[in-house]
Amino acid sequence: MTDAPPPNGSALCLDCALCCHGVLHDRADLEAEEVDQMRALGIEIERTGDDASFILPCPKVAGTVCTIYDQRPSCCSGYRCGLLDNYTSGRITRDTALSYVAEAKRLLQLLGETLPPGQSLRAARAEWRSGEMLRRAQAADGEGRRTGGLNQLNMTVLGRLLDRHFLAPREPRMVASPAEMAPTEPGGTGV
Ligand code: SF4
Ligand code: SF4
Repeated sequence: MTDAPPPNGSALCLDCALCCHGVLHDRADLEAEEVDQMRALGIEIERTGDDASFILPCPKVAGTVCTIYDQRPSCCSGYRCGLLDNYTSGRITRDTALSYVAEAKRLLQLLGETLPPGQSLRAARAEWRSGEMLRRAQAADGEGRRTGGLNQLNMTVLGRLLDRHFLAPREPRMVASPAEMAPTEPGGTGV
């Protein structure tokens, strides 16, 4: 009797692609020798000193498919999120993994309906992390307050979902620990 083959991680990724869409990270880092090839493929490169990267969502993802799969850079071919690790190691089933992917996509859809028109997830995440999203919601009235509160809530729920089920232990968390969070203003109104 032979052991069952290990779960196929690519099959899970083909139902997910959240990393390519910038849900887990804002950018992907490139090796120096990969820059010219990525640029030739039409990817805009950002430089910070000697470091090169490209902004996510990646322009080469179509739905859940990488359109340059055979030429994708090492940061992509070598990337394994915590969900993928847990699935391929057998700690969670495919159905469980897909339920987390579905929940993340549900939250992204909700955010897509209520974030300001044209605002990217990356920009929204920066506002959420800095506390600007919450401050703006607290300062607004009526519909603006309700929508801002929903955005704050959904960003936080998404952040906790990513922290718990997607990000690998070595990766920074989305939601700051209580000790890292800025104190709320005395008398401030929660959303
Ligand atoms: S987020 Fe994880 S499971 Fe989803 S495509 Fe990326 S590596 Fe695969
Ligand atoms: S190059 Fe391919 S694998 Fe890498 S982020 Fe873009 S779509 Fe995803």
